[in-house]
Amino acid sequence: MLGAPGAGKGTQAKMIAEKYGIPHVSTGDIFRANIKNGTELGMEAKKYMDQGLLVPDELTVKILLDRVAQPDCEKGYVLDGFPRTIPQAEVLDKALTDLGDAIDYAINVDVPDENIVKRMSGRRACVTCGATYHIEHVPPKKEGICDKCGSELVLRDDDKPETVLNRLKVYHEQTQPLIEFYTAKGVLKTVDGTQDMQDVFNAIVDILGK
Ligand code: ADP
Ligand code: AMP
Repeated sequence: MLGAPGAGKGTQAKMIAEKYGIPHVSTGDIFRANIKNGTELGMEAKKYMDQGLLVPDELTVKILLDRVAQPDCEKGYVLDGFPRTIPQAEVLDKALTDLGDAIDYAINVDVPDENIVKRMSGRRACVTCGATYHIEHVPPKKEGICDKCGSELVLRDDDKPETVLNRLKVYHEQTQPLIEFYTAKGVLKTVDGTQDMQDVFNAIVDILGK
């Protein structure tokens, strides 16, 4: 899944994972789980995440390749938030080629910058299970409480407006070039991410097949 921060990659990746029965692999979720558990990796990643910067490629690539080498990924997976730089995409490409594998689709969820800050300031995430909500578009049944596990919902540290602007800048500089990278490989598909989330999902299912 490609797209700006807050474009809806995670929302759609979870729906894809459920419909097609494959794991949802999010580098952001892996980093947040490590921060929560106080691991060394988490401490290192947090330094960058809090500033809206990308975690260095060496660190990110390693955790991603370890994750997709696990048995549950054998029949495929949906990547959310990875790759985010050309070097990450190149390492992934080589690792997959070595396995006789390749990316089937790079789905670009397109949302203009004007909509992003609003999306992010309304996002609420569960501290325990990582489920995401939006105070206007996807409100939980009970304010501040996760429908799925009953834990507290919080505004992510990096969803504060000043950090979001930095993340958008980083997106345009380092991640957007991937659109050209995957267009050249013939796998890029773009969907209009400003639609209602079910309509975005329907557009994705039209691409991936029923
Ligand atoms: P990303 O993973 O790309 O950072 P998320 O999937 O977490 O983005 O979505 C960002 C916020 O926008 C969340 O609060 C989510 O509930 C909300 N959201 C996602 N898709 C839509 C949509 N199509 N319309 C309105 N709000 C959306
Ligand atoms: P996300 O949950 O995808 O919005 O990611 C949250 C933050 O984690 C990003 O702003 C980065 O600091 C870091 N991160 C997640 N994925 C990557 C990646 N592929 N490369 C570098 N940093 C990442």
